[in-house]
Amino acid sequence: MMRLRVPRGVIDAVRAHARRDLPDECCGLLVGADGRVHRAVETRNLRAGPTRYLVDPAAQFAAMREAGREGLQVIGAYHSHPGAPPLPSATDVREAYETGFFHLIVAPGAGGAPDEVRAWRVAQGRFEPVELCIEPA
Ligand SMILES: [Zn+2]
Repeated sequence: MMRLRVPRGVIDAVRAHARRDLPDECCGLLVGADGRVHRAVETRNLRAGPTRYLVDPAAQFAAMREAGREGLQVIGAYHSHPGAPPLPSATDVREAYETGFFHLIVAPGAGGAPDEVRAWRVAQGRFEPVELCIEPA
């Protein structure tokens, strides 16, 4: 199984963003290289709602330019599933077109339950599970 390495601090930031945007889905981008995320970039959800998200394309282009200056790339995106497990939804699958793009999906736990985060990668229009390796920040 392919792996995605993510520093603990990035996971914490993604979880915090997911909780802040409840009851809506949050979304953002993952900047890194070679299967390792260096940082997360929060973006506005242009389709704010509890079951949809759309990363602002202008924010994505800006993140790509900025990452390029650091010798990095936008290697993936993250979003949340309030009230649903962190599995790709039918909508996620329909909109998955960038082969090799990683996705982190976070399901904020209700009533103090822990948040669940899972990693996926798009291949041939499908989501394949990826081993999430959380590294000390
Ligand atoms: Zn989703």
